[in-house]
Amino acid sequence: VIRGYGMKDPEILRVIEKVPRHRFVPEENRKYSYHDTPLGIGYGQTISQPFIVAEMTRQLQLTPTSKVLEIGTGSGYQAAVLAEITPHVYSIEIIEPLHERAKQILAESGYQRINLRHGDGYHGWPETAPFDGIIVTCAAGHIPPPLIDQLAIGGRMIIPVGKRFGTQFLILVTKNHDQTITSRNLMAVRFVPLVRK
Ligand code: SAH
Repeated sequence: VIRGYGMKDPEILRVIEKVPRHRFVPEENRKYSYHDTPLGIGYGQTISQPFIVAEMTRQLQLTPTSKVLEIGTGSGYQAAVLAEITPHVYSIEIIEPLHERAKQILAESGYQRINLRHGDGYHGWPETAPFDGIIVTCAAGHIPPPLIDQLAIGGRMIIPVGKRFGTQFLILVTKNHDQTITSRNLMAVRFVPLVRK
């Protein structure tokens, strides 16, 4: 499916092929696990379509020593994809039952090294910052300033920004050596909203 979108990055193709997406999808949607579609994971939340997961991961340009933070653990699928590239993965989920379910599935699938937290990801994970990569998998009205603070020099953040049910854009934010920020609009997207506690 992601090759059909022109994805050629061998490392991204390797990790997407490796992670069993069906394990993260609830029973009733499991038959669609390898289709070109986002999938419901309960509580009104979704895993993005495969190409979006692949492209957001690619844009982070991670290496095996990168420290990466995800906001919106959801099913745990994206976290597993990240963990195939680096052992230093941190992920925060605001809906407690999703956090618990992801913890269980990730442990059962061999991803017990991922650091998971239940809470509001708007504030990031300050004790562990800075992060070389930050991936936000829910759409924010603005880029949370704590996440900008927690981005390392040379780090990359990928975040959907826009209206709750309106137009949203995937934004790539990079932190330059002089602490300034560069942001680039990559494409129009549709994500579930980032909610606040
Ligand atoms: N990355 C997930 C998909 C997540 S859908 C996966 O691979 O399955 C977006 C997730 O963001 C939802 O689970 C939602 O509950 C969560 N979310 C929304 N607002 C949040 C916040 N402020 N902090 C942490 N998680 C949040």
